[in-house]
Amino acid sequence: MRHDANITADRQTFVTHLECSMTGERYEADQLHGLSRVGRPLLVRYDLEAVKAALPRDELARRPADLWKYRELLPVRRTENIVSLGEIATPIIPLDKLAAEAGAKHLWVKDEGRLPTGSFKARGLVMAIAMAKELGVKTIAMPTNGNAGAAAAAYASRVGIESVIFCPADTPEVNVREIAAQGARVYRVNGLIDDCGKLVGQGAKERGWFDLSTLKEPYRIEGKKTMGLELAEQLDWQLPDVIFYPTGGGTGLIGMWKAFAEMEALGWIGSKRPRMIAVQAEGCAPMVRAFEAGERHATRWEDAHTIAMGIRVPQAVGDFLILDAVRESGGVAMAVSDESIARAVDDAARKDGLLLCPEGGATLAAWRKALAEGLVSPEEKAVLFNCATGLKYPLADQSKTLDKDGPIDFSAL
Ligand SMILES: *Cc1c(COP(=O)(O)O)cnc(C)c1O
Repeated sequence: MRHDANITADRQTFVTHLECSMTGERYEADQLHGLSRVGRPLLVRYDLEAVKAALPRDELARRPADLWKYRELLPVRRTENIVSLGEIATPIIPLDKLAAEAGAKHLWVKDEGRLPTGSFKARGLVMAIAMAKELGVKTIAMPTNGNAGAAAAAYASRVGIESVIFCPADTPEVNVREIAAQGARVYRVNGLIDDCGKLVGQGAKERGWFDLSTLKEPYRIEGKKTMGLELAEQLDWQLPDVIFYPTGGGTGLIGMWKAFAEMEALGWIGSKRPRMIAVQAEGCAPMVRAFEAGERHATRWEDAHTIAMGIRVPQAVGDFLILDAVRESGGVAMAVSDESIARAVDDAARKDGLLLCPEGGATLAAWRKALAEGLVSPEEKAVLFNCATGLKYPLADQSKTLDKDGPIDFSAL
């Protein structure tokens, strides 16, 4: 089967308008937009009644298993603007040994590391770039901790859009090289991701670059939303009890929450929702601080540091959307230490054979903590998001050498 089987099918699209996530103000579809007038993310709205009539839930099972099968719930109007590197449905992998060890039954990992460019950033960026193409963008710019830049560069090159990418100076070498290899102009900046974001903002003003920062354009959420659609479909339309999501800018958490509402409106699922657990690192936990203080907005986290680079985001423009979803779901925001993250990565690989990225490790560490604190029970179905392949991160050097010419004690190997 060709990976673009869903692309060749001409299907109707159902976007009606865009809406400010804060004020509800309406914006026209089919025009280039950044943030709303009050500086908050725009959400895409669909004629869900019409989608309901056009797309019976069972039809999905007949389509090839990739992100574009949800076309009626996605913003791209014209089929020729769809871009793809093969955004497959990612598998759900049980961690049976780790679950048993903790006395629990259902611990599952949605392994997003299988996506193009090795992370779930592909879901958001494939949509953002397809829409940028549709709306005539020539050059995109973005700040990144690594994975978003890689996905943006790949898809932009594929459709002939130029990309300019800024990352913190200490971004892992492999990410910076990947971004450059996929055709972007990439710069290391002596600052954190929000400092990089300011440079993008300035370049956007001076050079007319289109700002592809997290949640600063409306379509990455729509791409990330497919995690929620896919999860529901894979679990036969029964959502899990609890979802652990490593939260940086929160695009995926916000997107899944939006997907759940849309699916309920379509009659695909009922009103039961998973508890959404926003997982952050102790060295950068602005959402946890705001959650615990009962605030709807989060202040910047100073001196952010953690080995889980993907969630090293000191400030998020969608803070209130993350916190609203977590609270409405009955979930929590929780922080885990770098030591517990490293231990989780090590355990999952050693015992269950699944190499998580550090951010994925953070969700396992958080599940363990939540179980210990009674926030989740051993009977509950828990889904962790592993957002990138563990191969993209520096691994501990555990190699040993052997002299083939000397005497070898095979009993000691
Ligand atoms: C971007 C990223 C995250 C955070 O995702 P958001 O949806 O922006 O919160 C987590 N882990 C990895 C590996 C990432 O690349």
